[in-house]
Amino acid sequence: MITPPIWNSVLLGVYIVAAASFLALLFFPAPYGRHDQGKAGPQIDTRLAWVLMEAPASLVFAYFFFTGERPFATVPLLLFALWQLHYFHRAFIYPFQLEVRPGSGTTLATALMGAAYCTANGYLNGSYTSTYGAHLDAGWITDPRFAIGVAVFAFGYFLNKQSDATLRRLRKPGETGYKIPFGGGYRWVSCPNYLGELLTWTGFAIASWSPAALSFVVMTAANLVPRALSHHRWYQRKFPDYPPDRKAILPYIV
Ligand code: NDP
Repeated sequence: MITPPIWNSVLLGVYIVAAASFLALLFFPAPYGRHDQGKAGPQIDTRLAWVLMEAPASLVFAYFFFTGERPFATVPLLLFALWQLHYFHRAFIYPFQLEVRPGSGTTLATALMGAAYCTANGYLNGSYTSTYGAHLDAGWITDPRFAIGVAVFAFGYFLNKQSDATLRRLRKPGETGYKIPFGGGYRWVSCPNYLGELLTWTGFAIASWSPAALSFVVMTAANLVPRALSHHRWYQRKFPDYPPDRKAILPYIV
């Protein structure tokens, strides 16, 4: 089914913002976590910021999915489940698992920009999965792209969650500093959580064969590749004994 002009405009907007973000983030890391200098305007509670940023991706997707044309068909419903498996956790569970540094916050502007993007992303992907993706019929379940995509999604999901859990265990309650993470994907890269996130959405894009999901992969890479490079350089500066063979995000390459 042909996508309407508003949908196409939002998609184009995502690509423009992704290109601008990639260039800006190469020079100025997003001001949250270790790269927050407290100079980017008012701050809000970090857990609240995560809910504010990520909840629209879950809720807006659900709204456009269930008000769309085929919300109860098998393949759209399976894709809905994959999406919510990640986003329900990210928006409503992950924020309350974080060991937030006492006294630290998240820049309001970062949270609002994140929320705006997640709203657009929820609209593009929720409506495409339920309405515009005419190829997502019962036959799609036997298409190799569906199986390959689900497998890549599952691997990325596991790597992302395992790597985020490793970071959480580095701080005992009340501790505020940073340590070198080891084990799992950290054997190869400084940010296996970001690599896992990228693989998760690459898998979703293959499984859904959707231009909306492709735009999400591009946006995720535009955000997370520069942030991984910033983290990697930061680790190397802070820890003289940082493992020299570790790369930033792609094993043996970057
Ligand atoms: P970070 O790795 O920067 O931080 C994650 C948490 O771990 C923070 O609480 C951080 O504390 C803590 N932490 C990180 N490194 C250490 C360390 N060496 N020692 C002790 N504590 C540490 O991840 P992000 O916050 O950037 O991202 C979190 C999740 O969100 C990831 O899974 C990521 O993939 C996802 N994400 C997805 C995006 C997308 O575009 N799809 C965009 C951004 C994030 P502190 O905050 O104090 O630094």
